Amino acid sequence: MRFISTRGVEKWIPSSQAIINGISKDGGLCVPVSFPNLFEKIKEKIDMTYEEVAFEVIKEFFTDFSNEEIKDAISKAYENRFKVVEKNGFLELYHGPTSAFKDAALLFLPQIMSLAKKKLNINEEIVILAATSGDTGKAALEGFKDVEGFRVMVYYPKEGVSPVQEMQMVTQEGRNVRVVGIKGNFDDAQRGVKEIFGDNEFKEELLKMNYRLSSANSINIGRLIPQIIYYFYGYLKLVNKQQIKIGDKINIVVPTGNFGNILAAYYAREMGLPVAKFICASNENNVLSDFFNKGVYDKRRDLILTESPSMDILVSSNLERLLFEASGRDANEIKDLMKELSDNGVYTVNEKIKKGLKDFYGNYAKNEEVYNAINYLYNEEGYLVDTHTAVAYVVLNKYIRDTEDTTPYLIASTASPYKFPRSISNALKMEVNNIDDFEVIEKLYNFSKVEVPNNLKGLNNKEIIYNFISETNDLKNALLSFLGDSNDKG
Ligand SMILES: *Cc1c(COP(=O)(O)O)cnc(C)c1O
Repeated sequence: MRFISTRGVEKWIPSSQAIINGISKDGGLCVPVSFPNLFEKIKEKIDMTYEEVAFEVIKEFFTDFSNEEIKDAISKAYENRFKVVEKNGFLELYHGPTSAFKDAALLFLPQIMSLAKKKLNINEEIVILAATSGDTGKAALEGFKDVEGFRVMVYYPKEGVSPVQEMQMVTQEGRNVRVVGIKGNFDDAQRGVKEIFGDNEFKEELLKMNYRLSSANSINIGRLIPQIIYYFYGYLKLVNKQQIKIGDKINIVVPTGNFGNILAAYYAREMGLPVAKFICASNENNVLSDFFNKGVYDKRRDLILTESPSMDILVSSNLERLLFEASGRDANEIKDLMKELSDNGVYTVNEKIKKGLKDFYGNYAKNEEVYNAINYLYNEEGYLVDTHTAVAYVVLNKYIRDTEDTTPYLIASTASPYKFPRSISNALKMEVNNIDDFEVIEKLYNFSKVEVPNNLKGLNNKEIIYNFISETNDLKNALLSFLGDSNDKG
């Protein structure tokens, strides 16, 4: 397997190099040259474990590594640390160390990156830069903490994550990590990180200091491939439970921000998984919803801080990978569209691309609808969901209302409700005005009796290790100060 850039400059990159680079030299994203058919191979083996499905998916793409290396990496990543549970069409992806689906990829990434580093004889320390809308940061910190040869630098929007998400990050242990709050939103953080990646002079300077940058955001193909696994696994679960027969098509509903998770579902279909529609659910930051309806991507609007903060994004990086496929892999077209986006903040896709997007449905949910959904699911179905998953549920219902399509579905359930306890409690009309978020967790537990994830228990009593704040135009200096004084924790 080899990898190419969506913008055409890089061609025939081996998997280890693609994983280490994170982003292509031309600013484009790495994509595999082709998608091997996996469905035909596994459709007789419906009882496979998560780790077994993981092995089948990963070995198709990361061919620089031996089967033994991959198996070992998978068991180190997932055994007793992560599991996926399907309940009534909800695919719960948040049973991992940070209680969000990001663990699925970020437990594996450090394993495969360490192998890639050895394969390529890279001696420099690798510095993972991550911009986070709340969940990637913590999952990257947890995945890479104390991993030999790596450091992690996380930038999060100071006012743009939930208090629980912030506490998870600023209390992070590990000798090789740093967490910085920025005075801006997620898009500012993501833009800042992309600028650093694009600054070749700065990167040369770092190399002289023995540091090499890489990325843990979903622009890194090493993070995207592991997300394909759970769609195959979830499909097999539905077959096992006799909800569908093998070969039946399903719809997949994904609460979407940076477009990584839904893109992985699309990649799964490219590998043969029978999927009819991809239902892309947005919150009030409805750029993608407008895009799928009009063919115009227009980020020229204010970012709204919602109660599903991990989806408060205006520039969804991974859409570029979908456009690449939809255009028939026309790198020049993609380069032009991305230039229009950065110059003018808007682009319109051509008829060919529009046709390539016909299986995507986009819509969005307002806060009141999210609250109603949380309430309904809890009171009528006895099922507690988080705000992001509720966005997906609202949009699924809009889709069914619009189309009367009765195809069975899987909804990606992306976070534990306890990461957003105040929103959930407000939706359920509980009285939580004068207590902090950790008391709200307690109260929500007493009310619902839904188990609190271990990693969130006692989080409020942990020591705050990081209280760095940075201006959005000063991310480089924040990084240099981290690399300069490894022992100073601020
Ligand atoms: C990251 C995240 C999303 C959005 O996923 P993308 O891959 O960025 O589209 C949705 N829900 C939760 C809880 C998340 O952490």
